Amino acid sequence: MQIETMTVEAIRSGIIEKTFTAEEVVRETLKHIKATEPQIDGFITLCEEKALVAAKKIDEKVAKGETLGKLAGVPIALKDNICTDGILTTCASKMLEDFIPPYDATVVKRLKEADAIIIGKTNMDEFAMGSTNENSAFKRTKNPWDQERVPGGSSGGSAAVVGAGMVPLALGSDTGGSIRQPAAFCGVVGLKPTYGLISRFGLIAFASSLDQIGPIATNVKDCALSLEVLQGIDSLDSTSVRQPVEREYLKDIDKGVAGLKIAVAREFFQEGLDPEISESLQKTIEIFQQLGAVVEEISLPINQEGLSAYYIISSAEASSNLARFDGLRYGYRPTEFEKLEELMEKTRTEAFGDEVKRRIMLGTYALSSGYYDAYYNRAQALREKIIEQYERVFQAYDVILSPTTPTLPYRLGEKLDNPLEMYLGDIYTINVNLAKLPALSIPCGFSKSGLPIGLQLIGGAYTEKMLLQAAYALEQCLGLTGKRLQWKEEN
Ligand code: GLN
Repeated sequence: MQIETMTVEAIRSGIIEKTFTAEEVVRETLKHIKATEPQIDGFITLCEEKALVAAKKIDEKVAKGETLGKLAGVPIALKDNICTDGILTTCASKMLEDFIPPYDATVVKRLKEADAIIIGKTNMDEFAMGSTNENSAFKRTKNPWDQERVPGGSSGGSAAVVGAGMVPLALGSDTGGSIRQPAAFCGVVGLKPTYGLISRFGLIAFASSLDQIGPIATNVKDCALSLEVLQGIDSLDSTSVRQPVEREYLKDIDKGVAGLKIAVAREFFQEGLDPEISESLQKTIEIFQQLGAVVEEISLPINQEGLSAYYIISSAEASSNLARFDGLRYGYRPTEFEKLEELMEKTRTEAFGDEVKRRIMLGTYALSSGYYDAYYNRAQALREKIIEQYERVFQAYDVILSPTTPTLPYRLGEKLDNPLEMYLGDIYTINVNLAKLPALSIPCGFSKSGLPIGLQLIGGAYTEKMLLQAAYALEQCLGLTGKRLQWKEEN
């Protein structure tokens, strides 16, 4: 069994057909993780024993001839901001260094019901704030294609462990691009679903009106399959929606793109976009045309302003969400303090990292009575405009095609001293969250230096099925799946 190249589908069918057992899958996976992890540093926690116990239960089910779930025996890694019953969940923060949740997030419950096996929890930027994983309090994850570069963020650990072949599937969370950007940097597929499609119950909140959980996989079909398991209304999350149209994302995935109307905004190709990414995208556009899609140029002028609206709104929400970390209820508590104020102050200054503090201050400022109208309200008005603009585009088009990132993966440390420059890297992903839309990033080529390039497909609300069909058509043409291992062998 060559576990590092196996897809979700292959693992599941191998177990059902008794070609191998779930226990063998887990043992091979752990072996591969141990060999690869020292170069990547993608995991905060490995759940070896629990994974083996879960695998044995699945093997018992197979022996008894019981029906198996959609993800039977599939090892999955979870971003460390997703609560797991009895398993450390740190948010990559000193604040939650020893927090063991007493419950599972809804997505975890659904994964377990589908017989998936949780193999570990992945590194991330602290409280999901960042674009490189360098804001983690614990470690710096490396890009599987070039270990001197970042894997992206904030779900960089999840993207890196999938990109390095350690697991076929991982979950991330995306508030402003945190699934799509690391997926692009690590050469894997990442999907940010429509807001409300997947329950956020048990996801430690960053910015509640923007956060969404989504899958990261090596290929489009595996993303589609996991979405079938993850999606659906949840009474524990008041913002989860009754899914209106689709539950079978794999069905008709090979429908193709004939007649699909694709919009490309001319603003996407302006200054700041790496020429190699631009070139790769042009080639992809031609492929879509050859496959029968209609591609037209449009204008989406507000694209730039989305960044300011995002950083005001997300920081405002974060300042409120993170107020609960005060040293009283759970998490970090300083050893010495005299008064309550001192306890709170020490907790927050000692246990939050710089970026988290920066966002809390920015958010508190934007919400303060003197500045509320000038910042928060203006950002909300801008958000409305962005929503309207996307609605207008989707009246005439099915999909918007854009780069996922303006640049190739950064070198470790390259952007650390300049947060504003780092924020600019979110230019193509941010508006999707503001408008609550679904979007995915799929590998579309490589730079001359062998670094992956990601393409983003954005759709109207609840059009995940169509996005997956379009991505699948492209994937079939490009055949980039499993490329990293091949590239590694050649170099
Ligand atoms: N890079 C963005 C930020 O730092 C996005 C983060 C995210 O999606 N969680 O806020």
